[in-house]
Amino acid sequence: QEARKVPSRIVFYETSMSSDITEKIILENDLRHALDNHELFVEYQPQIDLQTGHILSVEALVRWQHPSKGMISPGLFIPIAEESGIIIPIGQWVLETACRQVKQWEQAGLPPIKVAVNLSLGQLFQQDLVEMIQSVLEETDLDPKYLQLEITESMTINIDHITMILHQLKALGVTIAVDDFGTGYSSLSYLKDFPIDCLKIDRSFVQKIQSDPTDKALVDMILSMAKHLRLKVVAEGIEEVAQLNYLVAGHCETVQGFLFSKPLHPTYLQDNYQALQDNAQTILEALHTQC
Ligand code: C2E
Ligand code: MG
Ligand code: MG
Ligand code: MG
Repeated sequence: QEARKVPSRIVFYETSMSSDITEKIILENDLRHALDNHELFVEYQPQIDLQTGHILSVEALVRWQHPSKGMISPGLFIPIAEESGIIIPIGQWVLETACRQVKQWEQAGLPPIKVAVNLSLGQLFQQDLVEMIQSVLEETDLDPKYLQLEITESMTINIDHITMILHQLKALGVTIAVDDFGTGYSSLSYLKDFPIDCLKIDRSFVQKIQSDPTDKALVDMILSMAKHLRLKVVAEGIEEVAQLNYLVAGHCETVQGFLFSKPLHPTYLQDNYQALQDNAQTILEALHTQC
């Protein structure tokens, strides 16, 4: 057995252990330096208001440009960041970066844009989370109504604690969205306790609207539930006009997906803001003339 030393922990492994695990250990070690080495950056995916075709909000999505491995997907490194605790500094950095960016767009003359930032479960247990977010809002001079925090149903693990934290966050003036709604295998009763503003319909449901009657029924149910609970809805992962058509007919308010735009570099978004909106309006007008 060999011992390999990584900062703050010793990991023992056998040569028989899968290379997946070794790869994970290496990535975790590299991730510890990624922030300091400026290897992380944030992209922003437009969310389209279906009434107007306007981009009223964006979702901030972190990216890792690894020096030798190239781009590493957040689907791969976020779980590693969560398990190792590195999500705490990364999460704070993403939040600061996103708030500063929105302020900068405002100063560049863009219409007001709200930014949605993903929170991990570990961050909800971070001692100073509320103070940290408050000071980021103060330092960036961002009106809290332009910040939305995305949580997931994994956070129903400790309803009392999370309810308390979410109320403190709401008191700052930010809004809360439930990401990947319907995929968390949790009871829906948290909707009574958590002060939630928005549900994000998971991409897996949206993408099977056409092919799977169950997914279609789930989308209908989420839209109708949101209406009754007076929650906003964002549908994620719209790639096809047929999916959009269904969501428009169901009075969904906002959509996010490759049909309109991939996540974008902030400069690109700024320079092409009008073109992105024109494109969205063209797609929406084509729907209306069809009907
Ligand atoms: P998410 O929060 O559900 O983000 C939406 C994901 O769906 C993004 O993947 C986005 O690029 C992708 N997406 C959007 N529209 C489409 C579409 O039309 N088709 C397809 N195939 N995909 C679409 P991404 O950027 O790879 O992020 C994956 C996940 O990583 C995120 O899922 C989120 O859970 C996590 N993540 C990303 N950035 C952060 C962060 O800053 N903090 C935390 N805690 N998690 C993050
Ligand atoms: Mg999200
Ligand atoms: Mg997510
Ligand atoms: Mg999602």
